[in-house]
Amino acid sequence: MRAQPTASHYVNGRYIDDEQGAPLPVIYPATGETIAMLRSATPNVLELAVEAARAAQPAWARLKPVERGRILRRAADILRARNADLARIETLDTGKAIQETLVADAPSAADCLEYFGGAVATYNGEAVDLGGPFAYTRREALGVCAGIGAWNYPIQIAGWKSAPALAMGNAMVFKPSENTPLSALALAEIYSEAGLPDGLFNVVQGYGDVGAGLVGHDVVAKVSVTGSVPTGRKVLSLAGSKMKHATMELGGKSPLIVFDDADIENAIGGAMLGNFYSTGQICSNGTRVFVQSGIHDRFVDRLIERTKKIRIGDPLDPETQMGPLVSKAQHDKVVGYIGIGKQDGAVLACGGNVPSLQGFDGGFFVEPTVFTGVTDNMRIAREEIFGPVLTVIPFTTEEDAIAKANDVDYGLAGYVWTGDAGRAHRVAQAIEAGMVWVNSENVRHLPTPFGGMKSSGIGRDGGDYSFDFYMETKNIAIGLGQHKVPKLGA
Ligand code: NDP
Repeated sequence: MRAQPTASHYVNGRYIDDEQGAPLPVIYPATGETIAMLRSATPNVLELAVEAARAAQPAWARLKPVERGRILRRAADILRARNADLARIETLDTGKAIQETLVADAPSAADCLEYFGGAVATYNGEAVDLGGPFAYTRREALGVCAGIGAWNYPIQIAGWKSAPALAMGNAMVFKPSENTPLSALALAEIYSEAGLPDGLFNVVQGYGDVGAGLVGHDVVAKVSVTGSVPTGRKVLSLAGSKMKHATMELGGKSPLIVFDDADIENAIGGAMLGNFYSTGQICSNGTRVFVQSGIHDRFVDRLIERTKKIRIGDPLDPETQMGPLVSKAQHDKVVGYIGIGKQDGAVLACGGNVPSLQGFDGGFFVEPTVFTGVTDNMRIAREEIFGPVLTVIPFTTEEDAIAKANDVDYGLAGYVWTGDAGRAHRVAQAIEAGMVWVNSENVRHLPTPFGGMKSSGIGRDGGDYSFDFYMETKNIAIGLGQHKVPKLGA
């Protein structure tokens, strides 16, 4: 098998397996071929991982922050040096085009390790003057944190969760998605090679039950999950019942609003990236494309012309721009939504088919698809599809656009394309979302907060927000001897 790792799990600095674990086949989405055979973690494996993390964490937290950061920065260098191999693993695991995985996956994880590995050295508590006596705050690690990842950006998510957690002195047990288990193992190996002490970053494979076992484990102090809203709700209620810290990075159905005065070619490029990059499997995509009536027809014509030129096919070919969906289940879901769009009366303006590609019969491909004539009450305009399906919804005025944009339960991201600076700020402020990009497309800047409002999540990642994610703040108040203590019973 062409991507078989040494074993299924990485615990306490080494690969382990347990023959009792349920089989977990790893499928190459472009062909349906089994490329590795792993096993889901048994309760015994989970226990070993949590115990290794618990045992290793206190000494790690006592290191100088700069020493912890140095190890993360060394790991970032190794990630960059191995980028070609890691991109290949990520493409085999996810089906995403290699031209993407070479620039957006391990490099983004490396940037994150480098950023938090540097930032931690300057992050401190504060001293508060109380008129002589004073108080100071300590930022203390939480202990053992659980990271649970989605399948669209496996190594990036593993890096985004582990880097701030480790930088602040925590240990982590990470569970990748069952669909994409491979690259987190590679990251674990790299951490060890960079000098991370054993037990601080452990990877356990498995289905949702393994994630739930981790969330419910008494030693785990914090849970950070990237996934869908239904999973988020389950994790949050279990974590809440045990009073654990929890951060939810969940799904979206984000508006992308294009006004008449926008640079139309750039706006179309933004809409295409925000619907077809990673085969449309990005949480913060702008999948509801609102286009003002004055440019609507011109926008749609040009969008279709450009969409038809997207090169879909062999993900390992550097010329390919769009690969398959991650799994058969996701493929069936997306094809199902295309059917629902047609049934509900939307106009299928382009794509919508399962392409026949020579040599890739068993693959999970869907053409990049554009629906026009969409109204905001249709299911394809309200539910997260998580595939290459773009819906164009016409609007008339700024107020109309804002009302439509906010009329969903999600609130992850928003996009505004306009030539009017005042309008750009007005609309950006009015959109109910954790992140808004103006005349630009979904690029994550590490010092800025990333996360959603409404059902799209709880908490923010990025910059100091990530440190808040993974720390407790302790207040220590100091008297200087003059403090009056009641003489009760003296
Ligand atoms: P899922 O919600 O299906 O799964 C997410 C992770 O949670 C997987 O590892 C899954 O394991 C695990 N899981 C499932 N059930 C439980 C449970 N009861 N307790 C603990 N863990 C559980 O999401 P997908 O993997 O399908 O990813 C796509 C979703 O992720 C989309 O909604 C997308 O918007 C969102 N996402 C959000 C991002 C953000 O930052 N806001 C970024 C990227 C994606 P298993 O896979 O084995 O079932």
